[in-house]
Amino acid sequence: MSMDGVIVGIDLGTTNSEVAVVRDGRVEVIPVSGNSRILPSVVGIGDSGTLLVGEAARNQYILHPERTVRSIKRRMGEFGKVAMGENQYTPQEISAMILARLKQAAEAHLGQTVGKAVITVPAFFSDAQRQATREAGEIAGLEVVRILNEPTAAALSYEKRLDSARKLLVYDLGGGTFDVSIVNIEGEVVEVLASHGNNHLGGDDFDRKIVDRALEHLEGLHKTDFRGMPTVMARLQRAAEEAKIALSSAPFVTLSEEYLSEKDGVPVHLSLEISRTDYEEMIGDYIDETMNAVHIAIRNARLSVSEIDEILLVGGSTRTPLIVRRLTEDLGKVPRFEVDPDLCVAMGAAIQASLIAGTGAPRVLVDVTPYTFGISVLGYLPDGMEYPKCFAPLIRKNSPIPVSKSEVFTTSHDGQTEVEITVYQGEHPDALENIEIGQFLVTGLRPLPQGENLVIVSFSLDLDGLLRVTAREKETGLECSIDIERTIAPLGQEELDRSRERIVGLIGEGSGKFAEGAAPGSSALSERIRSLRERADRLLAGSLDGEDREDLIERVSGMIDQADGPEEELLKAAGDLEDLLFYLEA
Ligand code: AMP
Repeated sequence: MSMDGVIVGIDLGTTNSEVAVVRDGRVEVIPVSGNSRILPSVVGIGDSGTLLVGEAARNQYILHPERTVRSIKRRMGEFGKVAMGENQYTPQEISAMILARLKQAAEAHLGQTVGKAVITVPAFFSDAQRQATREAGEIAGLEVVRILNEPTAAALSYEKRLDSARKLLVYDLGGGTFDVSIVNIEGEVVEVLASHGNNHLGGDDFDRKIVDRALEHLEGLHKTDFRGMPTVMARLQRAAEEAKIALSSAPFVTLSEEYLSEKDGVPVHLSLEISRTDYEEMIGDYIDETMNAVHIAIRNARLSVSEIDEILLVGGSTRTPLIVRRLTEDLGKVPRFEVDPDLCVAMGAAIQASLIAGTGAPRVLVDVTPYTFGISVLGYLPDGMEYPKCFAPLIRKNSPIPVSKSEVFTTSHDGQTEVEITVYQGEHPDALENIEIGQFLVTGLRPLPQGENLVIVSFSLDLDGLLRVTAREKETGLECSIDIERTIAPLGQEELDRSRERIVGLIGEGSGKFAEGAAPGSSALSERIRSLRERADRLLAGSLDGEDREDLIERVSGMIDQADGPEEELLKAAGDLEDLLFYLEA
């Protein structure tokens, strides 16, 4: 495919920015420094007077705030200038430095000049803010062919075909901003119905809560306030963000920083354990605020909760499990998160760019687990009855792989020295309704009163479907684990076989009908039906899975159902199948 006049898609974010492109029908997010595809939206003047953009600028922020600028997106559309080192710059100029860096990365990656871009902005951006974004593009040497709303871009990254009318709620929580939008998709038209949020709420606030906790802890121990010490603060801030990210997949984390400072000639070390439960309490009010905004946005779109078809997650902070839990509880639907929440806006912008360039609608390919994996635990049924085989999911269906998650469980009776870990695959709240895929016994636990011994169970699933399950006694580190191989493939295979049988049965049945030549009005039509069935068969015999497989089965059955019906219905069903085949075979 010729890349002449390539148009890139850019997510120019408050905290981070990304650039993506569609090549050979695939969306690629372009590496900007080393392997990293994420460029911190920070600009600065380095020690030697050189311009720094991205990671390097971010790293010097705490030490040299006077010559570093971050979160410039919040100033877009304003008239004032910002100081950086000796000089003053307009917000457009600072943004242009970020855009120029992305343009350069794209050119290096593609081996050609890049002159055009689709750039995304929040749905609530005013005309002045959009205009400023265009100007930033021009300064960076990019013709901005479209300014695209971020929630629309996110929707584009998820929706392979914009053919069914749906209403999406896009929950976007980044490093420093939060917004929620209600998006209506109808035909090719994507419209933002309502948008609400807080321009000063995000993951940075969560980091700050952890930093505060660490400072309190240090103050308790050393009777010193370390707030005024930039190097200590810089280290704490970095440690806090790492801890926060770890808490998204583990129930406990230890912040540990050696030689943070000195007090009366004695070195100050930090070692502080934080549990996910503590952390969730620290950020609870922030999450409540976002949930209020969700309900306001739904109301402003004149919809009810039940009219929302899907929830999409955007922004790195949406990896926080509490957010997924609260959205699921409040809206009665599990949010979708299979497209990387940091990258989906840039991907959507690239898809829009490719539509504008006329290079067609590509697909975003992600490796996700088709099943939920978890263990059985003693719990309570909805009617309040105690039940020993409740399913506790650890890795959820549709999680991008590789993935690791751990949760803490407690012993259920006094003096318990053994726990049996039974691993299941499935979606049912009753573990026994799911498929058991492994079991092991952890022995030698310390006998303690019920609920006092904490056992951390970790699941780690790799791209080959190898699931490693580990159980560790928290206090002693005593550990047992098993490897369960081909969790995705063999069981998946069984299911594939079953559905293949089902569909072959259907096709066989249909063949009978078609063979009589009664339904298809013309031999050209029956030839077309036959060839469509063959093409479908080929795909079903292959590795097609998930939603695509279901769609295909549905459309083949749809066509077969019309075999005896009116010819125009049959033609329509054949057309539907053909469209899908076209797309799946691409
Ligand atoms: P964004 O502005 O969308 O790039 O989001 C960046 C924010 O997401 C930062 O505050 C990150 O610390 C946060 N973040 C990234 N990964 C995770 C994670 N696994 N859990 C919680 N927050 C995360």
